Amino acid sequence: MRGRGNRVLLLGIGAATLAAVLVGAPWLDARARIVSRLPTTERVVALTFDDGPDPRYTPAVLEVLRDEGVAATFFVTGARVAACAGAVDYRGHLVGFHTYSHRDGRGSRARAQIADFERGEEAVPATWPTHPRCYRSPFGHVRPATVRWADRRGVYLGWSVCYDALIRDSAPKGGVLPHRERVAALVSRVSPGDIILLHDGNANGRYLVEDLPAIIRELKRRGYRFATPADFPELR
Ligand SMILES: [Zn+2]
Repeated sequence: MRGRGNRVLLLGIGAATLAAVLVGAPWLDARARIVSRLPTTERVVALTFDDGPDPRYTPAVLEVLRDEGVAATFFVTGARVAACAGAVDYRGHLVGFHTYSHRDGRGSRARAQIADFERGEEAVPATWPTHPRCYRSPFGHVRPATVRWADRRGVYLGWSVCYDALIRDSAPKGGVLPHRERVAALVSRVSPGDIILLHDGNANGRYLVEDLPAIIRELKRRGYRFATPADFPELR
């Protein structure tokens, strides 16, 4: 998904919960739970990569993470898994589900979204690390019933900081920020518990591959550690 924050289609949601949805706050509602921050006040963040596996960028991202000793969460789409099975090694990381088709759920009923998630899950090899089972909708568009379905099986994960949005919004019109400024744009926004959305499977991947080592090193320098939902019993 590409980031403008977490949005839930509002059908069936009462007004009392509307504000929580719109601000994208950590939202622990009995009916639909979206986790958009880690449950910690320590300097711990989660790196999450959407839309892979992508042979252009995923191997390079995995290499950076290995070199830096960092575990991350990869939200894969079933269609891409089917196209590149066996080409990537996610051992030591967590693989989450990002539907099969990457269809925008805005026009879909929950039943169709869930079917797309189920098809995506079936495409993921059983040997890949998928516990706890994590779900995230393309573009962040999700029906409350889909979130409830995901929550019964595992956890629906949103995000609180988006790399793509930061480098897009702070870039000169029609241009791209230089490497150092892209890194600074992201790192300056990070606070404890953030779930950081990045993409190893979209056109910004070429910038990400360049920026990721510096992002990780700068966060480490500021005292940050890196986690996945598997590190938190309350998210399992
Ligand atoms: Zn996506």
